[in-house]
Amino acid sequence: MSIKAKITERGAVLLGCSVACDAFDESRPLRVVTHAHADHMIGLQQSLRTCEKVLMTQATKDLIDVMRSPLFLMGGYVETLEYGKTFCYGEESITFFPADHILGAAQVLVEDAEGMRIVYTGDFRLEGTPVLETDILVMEATYGSPLCRRPFNTNVKDMLVSIVEEGLKHGAVYVFGYHGKLQEVMQILHEAGLKVPFIAPERVFQVSKICERHGMRIGRLLRVEEREVKAMLGQNQPCVAFYHMGSRGKVGRGSFCVYVSGWEFDMPCREIADKEYVIALSDHSDFDGLMEYVRRSRPRLVITDNFRIGYAETLARHIQRRFNISAVALPKR
Ligand SMILES: [Zn+2]
Repeated sequence: MSIKAKITERGAVLLGCSVACDAFDESRPLRVVTHAHADHMIGLQQSLRTCEKVLMTQATKDLIDVMRSPLFLMGGYVETLEYGKTFCYGEESITFFPADHILGAAQVLVEDAEGMRIVYTGDFRLEGTPVLETDILVMEATYGSPLCRRPFNTNVKDMLVSIVEEGLKHGAVYVFGYHGKLQEVMQILHEAGLKVPFIAPERVFQVSKICERHGMRIGRLLRVEEREVKAMLGQNQPCVAFYHMGSRGKVGRGSFCVYVSGWEFDMPCREIADKEYVIALSDHSDFDGLMEYVRRSRPRLVITDNFRIGYAETLARHIQRRFNISAVALPKR
């Protein structure tokens, strides 16, 4: 059964006979991009050059257009596929389902000629992700260890709002996170009724506009490059500035800083220095969420992703032990 799905040494998730997800594989005519994070766009240029079709959701395509360039995807045959719609190739069919992770993220279901179901979750957070019943389940394993539990999940958003409100009493607040999650923070703060300007550098601004176009509500966002906005930051007026995690330490030094990270398990909010806080906001399931997906999906075989960062071997061991389901971490290390 395992030949129907595997993960290669280069990180490609192979489903059925024709699909390679999230990394290039020369043997597969179809490439799927589950979402627009870099570790799921491996070898995309090569896939665009050689695959018959590259499949992704419209939102993922729009995000790649701003994260790379509008020309990037023109190097190949991209086909956008809506959630719930099926793409047929030979005797196999490919269907996308939502994954609660970043805008546009998809789970992939491949059904082969014999009616076998093969599912790849991509990255996901259980809360907003439909669980798919399947024969073979390929899943992410980022927080696949019992050490990675966040039992406090429910009040993280309130905590985030109150820590930002606290910071605003002193002036500008800088929020650092990855694409997708930054926009989630904007939406949380906007929905909490914060009345201060939101500010972002060009790239974050562009990504946010795509999120807005696809239905997220993020409020009014200004470009940091504009003169009035620069002045506002210079005078330390109350506002929230959103920066990619890569800018940490380069901007906002000495200001009130909030980092959003999933790698936090002891408490929803932690003070790491004077005026510096980490908030445990994750866009991945914790260990319990991953195990719960397996329980409800009822597969006969599970393959955990041992290519990307995480605990694939530990997760496979726990699945095997708790559910008595065959589970293997691939690629083998
Ligand atoms: Zn991701």
